[in-house]
Amino acid sequence: MASPYSKLEKWQRMYVNRSLNMERIKAIGFDMDHTLVMYNREEFESLAFRETLKKFIEAGYPEELAGLTFKPNFLIRGLLVDMDRGNLLKVDGHKYVKTAFHGTKPLDKETRHKLYNSESFKAQEFLSVDTFFALSEVQLFVEIVDFMDANPKKIQKTYREIYGDLRRFIDLSHADGSIKNVVMADPARFICKDKHLATALLRLIDGGKTLFLLTNSGWEYTDCMMRYILDGEHEEFTSWRDYFDYTIVASGKPGFFTGSQPFLEVMTDSGLLKTLSGSLIPRRVYQSGNATLLQKLTKFRGDEILYVGDHIFGDIMQSKGKLNWRTLLVVEELEHELETLQLLKPVFQEIQHKNYEREALDEEIQITRSKIMSIKRHIQIANRDGDTKKSHHLEKEREKYTEKLAGKTPTLDLLDNEIRELLSKKESTLHPMWGELMKVGLERSRFAYQVEGFACVYTSRVSNLRFYSPQKRFSSFHDILPHDP
Ligand SMILES: [Mg+2]
Repeated sequence: MASPYSKLEKWQRMYVNRSLNMERIKAIGFDMDHTLVMYNREEFESLAFRETLKKFIEAGYPEELAGLTFKPNFLIRGLLVDMDRGNLLKVDGHKYVKTAFHGTKPLDKETRHKLYNSESFKAQEFLSVDTFFALSEVQLFVEIVDFMDANPKKIQKTYREIYGDLRRFIDLSHADGSIKNVVMADPARFICKDKHLATALLRLIDGGKTLFLLTNSGWEYTDCMMRYILDGEHEEFTSWRDYFDYTIVASGKPGFFTGSQPFLEVMTDSGLLKTLSGSLIPRRVYQSGNATLLQKLTKFRGDEILYVGDHIFGDIMQSKGKLNWRTLLVVEELEHELETLQLLKPVFQEIQHKNYEREALDEEIQITRSKIMSIKRHIQIANRDGDTKKSHHLEKEREKYTEKLAGKTPTLDLLDNEIRELLSKKESTLHPMWGELMKVGLERSRFAYQVEGFACVYTSRVSNLRFYSPQKRFSSFHDILPHDP
């Protein structure tokens, strides 16, 4: 019998790394940005890019920088930034650098190998592009690297110093409202509403789950975004706040999971803060706080809480590692990738077919080589025994096999090339520069290893939860061994 979920599109499914019994889950917490609120990324990133660039020029950087343009979709998450060299790297799970760019230009294989793969490589020395917010930041960095290379005297700073300034200017753009105010003034331009989100959340509530919102965004912004995506989306739940028992803003994750900050209550009409005395009261809004206190006040144990977020480090690694919360990672890119991979099915089949062909040919070549070695050995014996007739006959045999071998080797090279071309066709269809998010060639990417290592379950968007029972047992097939029937 087919799985009841087989009728779902691949991007609508949940993928399981570690078995998760939803019956045991009593509370479900949600991150907001890029988890509940899905952004029109091109609009948002281009705004962040332009606003941050303005800060560079205001700080005295050359006016010509104003000419830099935002290139949408140049980057993907999971890349590493070598701040000292101005390079971007895509690495596999063994930290082998498979693709590298200097600024926005590809690094040739030789330089890449010399810089990164010839000695032990320390991924932790580099900055990891984990969040969507980091994409516009790193995009601006590589554009400035290009500018510095083309105009060597214009900026007297190292790439790393530029990155330091960049971080400051981004923080400034967030703090002074130059990004957020624009988004709040026109949410329809920046936010992609998911019309199934309300249904998905209601299904969880009807399944007896307590929902809470746990975001790093401040109250004013959170309220504006949540109103836009949920208010009026369901006749019984007219306000977004009806869905969540607790709302925690400006939570300071990942510190929220490890620290001991007290909760403050937000007076939602004035925005003023009040020290919390006693318990958390459902439907009220809180700021700061910490996870241990949240558990104590709500009486939920760590393993009874499922946290849903998009940031492997800030949302998932910390909540799972320190507190044993169960985790659901939202990997937005999967939607596009799984659709594209579906279209690429014929290419995959061809790659598999060519691989089988290659395997068979390789086997034949190895057998022929062994045959030649064996004949050589017999020629030596015949020569030693003075059997010239036998030696002559074996020599003919050897020539025959050598010719056979020479005929097969170019076909093997041809097949290797064909496979390589098919793989690069697959990669560039997914992303022209960086290929598939979760793969590097045929291997898993570092990003994929992190998803596998830290998220119990992952999916492309929160609303996919509506397809599954709130008490579902998500089973992992990870323990299947290569030899299992
Ligand atoms: Mg987020």
